[in-house]
Amino acid sequence: MSADMMSTSGTGNGMLGFFSSFFYPRRLPASGPQPAIYRRLLKSALAGGAYYSGLLDLYIQFRDRCPAQNRLFMVGYHAVVEESGREIEAGMMPQQLISRSLFERELDQIGAQFDFLSIDQAVDFLEGKIHLKRDSIVLTFDDGYRSIYDHAYPILKRKGVPAVFYLCTDYVGTSRLFDHDRLFYLIRKAVQGSLPIETLLLQRGIPIDPNGLIASGSPLEITRRLLEICSKTELEAFMRLLQEKLDVQETDFPSEAAMVGWEAVETMAREGMTFGSHTASHCLLTQVDPKAVLEELRLSKAALEARLQRKIDHLAYPDGRTSPYVIEAARACGYRSACTTSHAVNKVGGDRYLLGREQFWENSALGWASNCSKAMVASQIKGLFKTR
Ligand SMILES: [Zn+2]
Repeated sequence: MSADMMSTSGTGNGMLGFFSSFFYPRRLPASGPQPAIYRRLLKSALAGGAYYSGLLDLYIQFRDRCPAQNRLFMVGYHAVVEESGREIEAGMMPQQLISRSLFERELDQIGAQFDFLSIDQAVDFLEGKIHLKRDSIVLTFDDGYRSIYDHAYPILKRKGVPAVFYLCTDYVGTSRLFDHDRLFYLIRKAVQGSLPIETLLLQRGIPIDPNGLIASGSPLEITRRLLEICSKTELEAFMRLLQEKLDVQETDFPSEAAMVGWEAVETMAREGMTFGSHTASHCLLTQVDPKAVLEELRLSKAALEARLQRKIDHLAYPDGRTSPYVIEAARACGYRSACTTSHAVNKVGGDRYLLGREQFWENSALGWASNCSKAMVASQIKGLFKTR
């Protein structure tokens, strides 16, 4: 079962199921996933009530069967950019972006309520080697955008906050962009320009999605669907066709999608930041053959170790997707931990290869007045609106 599937499974019915479907609607508006104001108001009111009444912790203890004050949570970011609205307009996926100013405010909110741990300390805790003084957090960054060095690292360094950065070694230090970033940019432009996406897919021999997502979905939904159904070759051919039809030049893609360089990575590693693998090519490990899984995990680990001259122990599955085979492969390749994108409170003795993580982006923890709310930050981290 993939981590994405796991994240939407759990109880899945009753009130929790209702909350989940209400707060995480399947269909996102075409302009992006910014929640409607009424949804944010209700979410904010629930989070405030749960947080300030003390019910939040009672609920989490009951749901996750985990005593308070000794729990490990993980928070996942992608790109920290100057101003997220501008990047969204430029064509980056909103869920990957947080503005530098909000990121800094969130760090302060998190630091006021949790202790920050490095990923190595976190794994020591899970193995029962150290004890926590209070609920703790590991900050993670996936994909390795250049902004982790330009915007996230200076703030982390100034505040003395540790973090782990999961990199795709085929991309670090290159001018390549991820397929998901290229595709989202092109699909968004195609939808804006009313380009017949289904007809173009048929021209490339890619069958039309029977549930109609491609005909009527948002750019984000269409991008996700195509990444699932297309092979790498099909995707590349389709993107070439879109690029040609839309007259998009390489320099038109958002500069924020650019990758971090090796020198920046070395600097950050020297200053105490941790690096892990996010595979070599960012392939979905549940969709490639077993040999490719092993290669992705081995080669990315070896490339990072050769470059940074230190052992690489930690992995983040692309898109959080994993399976029993992938977990076995991660263990066999010598990783100490691997994280998903599903909610879970990480406890002593828990599975180090299924670490739970909450994904954060610009709108994920905004309160009713579009501020960074302490109650919303705590509620998001503790998974108040999740079904497991
Ligand atoms: Zn990723």
